[in-house]
Formats: sequence, C-alpha cells, structure tokens
Amino acid sequence: MIKFENVSKCYNDENKAVDSLNLTINDGEFFVLIGPSGCGKTTTLKMINRLIDLSEGTIYLDDKKISEYNIHELRWNIGYVLQQIALFPHMTIEENVAIVPELKKWDKKKVKDRITNLLENVGLEPEKYLNRKPSELSGGEQQRVGVVRALAADPNIILMDEPFSALDPISRKRLQQDMVKLKKKINKTIVFVTHDMQEALALGDRICIMQEGKIVQCDTPDEIIKNPKNDFVRNFFKSGNVYKTSLFESDYRVKDFVEEGLYDNMEYNEDINCINTEESLENLFSLLTKEKIIKIEQNGKVIGTLNMGHLVKFVANKLEKDGEV
Ligand code: ADP
Ligand code: MG
Repeated sequence: MIKFENVSKCYNDENKAVDSLNLTINDGEFFVLIGPSGCGKTTTLKMINRLIDLSEGTIYLDDKKISEYNIHELRWNIGYVLQQIALFPHMTIEENVAIVPELKKWDKKKVKDRITNLLENVGLEPEKYLNRKPSELSGGEQQRVGVVRALAADPNIILMDEPFSALDPISRKRLQQDMVKLKKKINKTIVFVTHDMQEALALGDRICIMQEGKIVQCDTPDEIIKNPKNDFVRNFFKSGNVYKTSLFESDYRVKDFVEEGLYDNMEYNEDINCINTEESLENLFSLLTKEKIIKIEQNGKVIGTLNMGHLVKFVANKLEKDGEV
C-alpha cells in the first residue's frame, strides 16, 4: 500500500507543483494519474521512489515512511518505466534487463529464467532478442524491454511515466493490450501516468485526475464517467463533454455492443431490467446508472447482459478511434 498524507512539493517559493495530496493506492491496484501537462503527475510519481524529495507531508509504503527505507532497498523494489527508456547502448538486452536482479544477487539461472519468461510475456522471442543491442530494436520493442527491465527483479510496485506516449498509435495499442494481460498475471501495484483518457479508461482500476497540483477526482472509471465531478473532468472527455454530447447524439445503439462482443453472452434469468438491441446509448446509460446489470433482448430473446464496464470499454474504444482526447 502506498499512502500520501498531505504531501506537497515546492520547487520554488511561488507555487506548489503538488499541493496537499491525500491518496491511498492499494496493493495490486492499477492506479492511473492523469491530467494536463504541468499538473504535477511526474513529481507525484518521483516522490514515491525518492527521485524527488517532498517539501511537506509523508508518504508511507506498507505503513513505513519512505524516508526510513534504505534508498537502494526502496529503488530495487520499485520498478520504473519512463517515456523514453534509457537502455545502455553498449549492453545487450539481456545485460540491460539483468542489472537489478544481479544487484540483488540472484543466481544466474534464476535471472535467465526470469528474463526469458518476461520477454515472452511482452511478445519478444527471447532467442531473437536476448543478444541484440538496443539500437537494433524499434521504439516499441525498446519500450517493451523497458517494461521487462522494470519487472525483472520482481518489485512489488511499478511506476510508469507516460511509457507509451512516444510510440506510434499501433505499437501503443499493442503495448496497452499487453499491459492489460500482464496486469492480470503479475498482480503488482502499478502507478501509471498518462495524459490520455482512452489509455486511462483502458487500463485503470482507479483514475486520479489532477489539475494544478491537486486532485480533482479519484474514482473508478465508471464512477468518473457516471459522475464527473466538474467541468474540468467532463472536458477531459473531449470538447465539452464527449460523453453527453457527441456519443449520445451519435447513432450508436445497443446492437453495436453486441456486434463488438462487448457484453456477457450468458443466460440470465433473474428479474432485472431489459433493453432492446435497437435502443440508444443514452437509454442504456440511464438504465445503467440505476442498475448494475441489464439484460439485452434481441427479437424477443434474452441474449446476454451488459454492465457499466462494457459501457466504459465502448467509450474508450470510440475515443480511441476518434483520436486523442
Ligand atoms: P507533469 O508530469 O504533470 O507534466 P510535473 O510534475 O513535471 O508535471 O511538473 C509540475 C510543475 O512543477 C510544473 O509547473 C513544472 O514546471 C514544475 N517543475 C517540475 N520539475 C521542476 C524542477 N526540477 N524545477 C522547477 N520546477 C519544476
Ligand atoms: Mg510528466
């Protein structure tokens, strides 16, 4: 567990880059920090592994103040992935990834097994990549290696600062999908910074929206979509309010969910609300704000159920197709 208690950071006397943050990130959670450039995301992240000292307040890691940890112990147990990962150019991929496990004095076989396994998990064939140099990899492949390096020594926490934002849309999408799979497998606490709402919705268990060093809203994706706290949050879903304007005014219907496979295709006999596949997104939304699950009916037959998670995914997909938020 990572806990921020009244944490502030001032780089100078004028203003606070981070202003009285109170925040608890749970074990195993995929926690997304999002907000416009300069709102304090990177500062917040770097205070966790003490790359930046805090000016006020306390950060706890598993109930112990981070200032009380041995700095090496702290850093080795927190993986860190940057936007543009800095691999050592003269070292092979294997050597680059093995750095922290070797510092931790893992035996050779364990290191090799771990690296091989992780490379496979991010879609890089070990035989092909282990002995290459970073310059022989594409940008997307280098970012994958960055993820592997951060995970290599099996840290409990991974900090990721806009790790995919320098990539082309296709590599980025692929890495996001890998992260979704990896997240289920590894069960780590991940703090992920982005300025892209689509990415946040696709990955986050909870999303924390920041503005000028403060938290505006910190909630699950469905809660943020259902109850955006103010116009700033709403505006994060594109010009004005994508959610209520463009998507609601669009022609999307429940059948689009079915066509995209975004529903639970299972029998459900309980007596709950039902929506026809011809009905609008707006009607679906208003039903989902009242009920957790809704049955879908097509040609007089119940074909499955929908929940807010499906709606969030649908919105995320559409936002992605329509470009960056
Ligand atoms: P974000 O990652 O959300 O873009 P940052 O945490 O990098 O934001 O920056 C927050 C604020 O702190 C910005 O106004 C930025 O200019 C300022 N800042 C960041 N790093 C420094 C620094 N080393 N010295 C002075 N000001 C800084
Ligand atoms: Mg930043």
